[in-house]
Amino acid sequence: MNFLKIGEEILEKHIRIVLNSYFGDVFETSEYYNVACNEPGCGDNANNIYSKRGFILKTNDPWVYYCHNCNTSTTAIKWMKTHFPVNYKNMMMDVMQNKRDTNKSNISFTQKKGSSDRDETYDTKGFQKLTKFPDCVQYCEDRKIPKEIYSKWYYCTTGIYYGRIVITFRNKQGRTYYYQCRSFNNKNGVKYLSRFGDHNSIYNYYNVDPELPVVILEGPIDSIFVENSVAVTGLKLKGDKLKKFKKTYFLLDNDKSAFTKATELLCDDRKYVFNWVKFLKDYPCDKKIKDVNDFILKNLHGIEKLTWDIIEPYFTNNPMDKMYFIVKDEPKKKPKKSFGTSGCF
Ligand SMILES: [Zn+2]
Repeated sequence: MNFLKIGEEILEKHIRIVLNSYFGDVFETSEYYNVACNEPGCGDNANNIYSKRGFILKTNDPWVYYCHNCNTSTTAIKWMKTHFPVNYKNMMMDVMQNKRDTNKSNISFTQKKGSSDRDETYDTKGFQKLTKFPDCVQYCEDRKIPKEIYSKWYYCTTGIYYGRIVITFRNKQGRTYYYQCRSFNNKNGVKYLSRFGDHNSIYNYYNVDPELPVVILEGPIDSIFVENSVAVTGLKLKGDKLKKFKKTYFLLDNDKSAFTKATELLCDDRKYVFNWVKFLKDYPCDKKIKDVNDFILKNLHGIEKLTWDIIEPYFTNNPMDKMYFIVKDEPKKKPKKSFGTSGCF
């Protein structure tokens, strides 16, 4: 069994079981677990019960166990194997089970604790390679989505995701950790129906360089066209998970609800947000632009991907710039309650 091939979801599940079972006091962030080192002879925690110098670093690939007291340094998997052989064995059985499911459905899933009662193997059995469906391929081509990306997507032919294009979220190893199913031939129901349960739902999360500026968008398709970017799938921002990134820049859609969110980010949180008004002044388009993908399709400059050099000048964290995010009411509708009550001055 290759040590490096255990998916993070499975590893995390079993590490959590170990920490809950054998460690009284665990400090946890999105990047690491901090515990009293359990290496025999280390003595961490012996004199001072508050001393905790063992770390499981989730930011390393593979995850690492490290102790600042005894200088133990090993992979988290080997640490499991050495100290918790029974848990290690259970984890390996999970890996094998996952492999079998992978071979069956071509996708790997492990239900995390807290996920819904849905039978995911059943729900996803209609997932078929998108490239088998010419109308789906046309849809992707029309949006200039690169073939190497959409060829890893699916189209669902049965069940709860019937008639939807399945956008897969993959980690560095190519393993699917999440999926978002966009309505296509089935116009009933919601536009997006995503994987059930408690999972990381940030697109491209594992593939960006966290040291560089990370651009945060709303939709996976938009994220394809922005360098070093992730998509948070909707406007609910995944705060804790985004802490992994040193510098974050929000490039939300060019629409009303996104403007409201942008104002909040700008005024309440002093985050950097993208100023579409200024950007479209410098990069004019014939038609109204609603998001990044729309810009890629309609821009007159032949821009096929937004690099950091192109977009950097248009991010602002100056609350005064909230004037660029004023929501104009549709003329025929009755005026809604006034905007901008979350004042920043
Ligand atoms: Zn130690």
